Amino acid sequence: MSRVIGIDLGTTNSCVAILENGQPAVIPNSGGYKTTPSMFAITQDGKRLVGHLAKRQAVTNSKATVHGAKRLIGRRFDSPEVEHSRELCPYDIVEGPNEDARIEIGGKNFTCPEISAFILREMRRVAEEYLGEPVQEAVITVPAYFNDAQRQCTKDAGKIAGLEVLRIINEPTAAAMAYGFNRTGEEKIAIYDLGGGTFDISILEMSDGVIEVLATAGNTFLGGEDFDRRIVSHLVDAFREAEGIDLTQDAMALQRLKDAAEKAKCDLSQRETVEINLPFIASDDEGPRHLSMEVPRETLERLVDDIVRGTLKTVDQCLQDANVGVGDIDQVILVGGQSRMPLVQQAVADHFGKRPHKGVNPDEVVAIGAAIQGEALVSEDDNMLLLDVTPLSLGIATFGGHFAKLIERNTTVPVCKSHIFTTTRDNQSAVKIRVLQGEGDIAQDNDLLGEFVLGGIRPARKGEPEIDVSFDIDANGIVSVAARDTATGKEQSITVNATGTLSDDEIQNIIEEQELYEVALKE
Ligand code: ADP
Ligand code: MG
Repeated sequence: MSRVIGIDLGTTNSCVAILENGQPAVIPNSGGYKTTPSMFAITQDGKRLVGHLAKRQAVTNSKATVHGAKRLIGRRFDSPEVEHSRELCPYDIVEGPNEDARIEIGGKNFTCPEISAFILREMRRVAEEYLGEPVQEAVITVPAYFNDAQRQCTKDAGKIAGLEVLRIINEPTAAAMAYGFNRTGEEKIAIYDLGGGTFDISILEMSDGVIEVLATAGNTFLGGEDFDRRIVSHLVDAFREAEGIDLTQDAMALQRLKDAAEKAKCDLSQRETVEINLPFIASDDEGPRHLSMEVPRETLERLVDDIVRGTLKTVDQCLQDANVGVGDIDQVILVGGQSRMPLVQQAVADHFGKRPHKGVNPDEVVAIGAAIQGEALVSEDDNMLLLDVTPLSLGIATFGGHFAKLIERNTTVPVCKSHIFTTTRDNQSAVKIRVLQGEGDIAQDNDLLGEFVLGGIRPARKGEPEIDVSFDIDANGIVSVAARDTATGKEQSITVNATGTLSDDEIQNIIEEQELYEVALKE
């Protein structure tokens, strides 16, 4: 029987784990690293690189090196998140035919699921190399705050990578599973996950193997990269002041600054001060210029203080949604590389009035939870029961541009709810249903998941026809919608075509193209 792997497909780093003899273990790659950078690159001579190999050449090939593709997956091209990513990413982001964001590097256009698939395939390869056997089945994690389109696209990525995705689960929920593994008793826990590109907070209740998510909240605009950017701006300003040269105009200099900023930030988690040295960072008529600067921990803390405080606001919102007081939380678990920063740990400890749990590795706990969930799914082990929730409210746009919520956020999934709709004009023969996800009261403030027209309604006065629309959210958090005209009993089968998701044909084409490419590589 083939084994199930758990994959934490991170914005910055990815990690793969498995259950071995009943014990969860992270699988190191051939370089001995337990995490792999979620990066993909095409070199000048057309070679495709993934992970550490891609990261290592990013400085000299920044335009053709993709990082943070997870910020773009399932997003509309014109969304604020894509705009935000543009500031962070030196590679080209272009609009796809489905109004989705795509990535253009090395003269080739890639969908975001395709880029994620390169990383998933690499994680699968790492696992296969370690196990010495093919791996097919996987549980993949996503931020709790991912909407329907982002989840569907992640599933598509799994398919392209040749994986059967048994389940998409939320990262904080996975972390809770890892924490709760073989633990009995009743506890309320908070999972605070600050990664490279996203922030998530979840409040969960555990009792004897049953994990129930009470509430979840997050911010997809916020992560370690934003900390790095603050340092980069600080360095750029100081250099402009001292040397009169604007480093932001030089892509290579900027990439070097980013790398140095991230390294300094990580070092400052252990040390009180670091020195940043970037020789030959620029030059002008007077010759080459070097950047050399001391950055004390206080400076970093001052630069990012508002970001850290911002996460605590989201924490409070989540506690409120969970109807739980800060004092009711028994354990706080820190997840994500950025949570290693002392300021973050201190702020969280102060906020909850207790020190965070020390027993889990913030880089590995999500993949481990995914592996545990995967094993539970194939072995039909009912000792561990996962009751997850939908992070965003689901509903439709109604007359006048309002948003009618039919499934409130934090409802346990899977869930199905139906509602009767009707016409607004006499003899109206069709209705248009626009399916939205989000928390705004006005329709346009929410994500449009898709829209459909139900036709063939028999002539009647306005308000008389009954159209029964049912909304389903499955255990993966993926939405489907069905509609039925109660007069005729006719069902209309409707699929929500979320932004950036791919048809089966498109997926097949990509797989075939990648396979072709693999053959080419071996020449
Ligand atoms: P993601 O879940 O988004 O893939 P990770 O959990 O791997 O992200 O976290 C990556 C982020 O954590 C990066 O911004 C990285 O710079 C930061 N990070 C990693 N180690 C440390 C550290 N020791 N101190 C501060 N930040 C760190
Ligand atoms: Mg993560």
